Amino acid sequence: MTGMERARKHSSKRDAILRVIQSTVSHPGAQWVYERLKSAIPDLSLGTVYRNIKLFQEERQVISVGVVNGEERFDGQTAPHPHFVCSGCGKIIDLPCPEDEAVRGMAAAVQQDFVIDYRKTVFYGLCGECTEEPTRLVP
Ligand SMILES: [Zn+2]
Ligand SMILES: [Zn+2]
Repeated sequence: MTGMERARKHSSKRDAILRVIQSTVSHPGAQWVYERLKSAIPDLSLGTVYRNIKLFQEERQVISVGVVNGEERFDGQTAPHPHFVCSGCGKIIDLPCPEDEAVRGMAAAVQQDFVIDYRKTVFYGLCGECTEEPTRLVP
């Protein structure tokens, strides 16, 4: 394999990882991305997925939503938008709420003294499925 072929193979892995993250609204973790790609890219390793996600974060192509149930979760949609995290099943949902005046005002105030890299708004609680009565268990 020539250096050029190797570089192309390397970047196609990279592209595939980014595409998977950008093509879902499930805010996946590295393990999920790896599971999705390993049949198509048999020589892919979980370490490669982690390394590339780290790079995407540095390039601001992917953002971290935070650690949910012990796993860091990522988002390919990088424009600031609020999230809801279900503490029951670990689901992360994009909230359609428009950014309100208060948040904009706060950002403007902070910006006077600091350089803001990014900000995030996360609501924690239980999703509809997790608050439902477990009817299955009732005789
Ligand atoms: Zn839930
Ligand atoms: Zn999101």
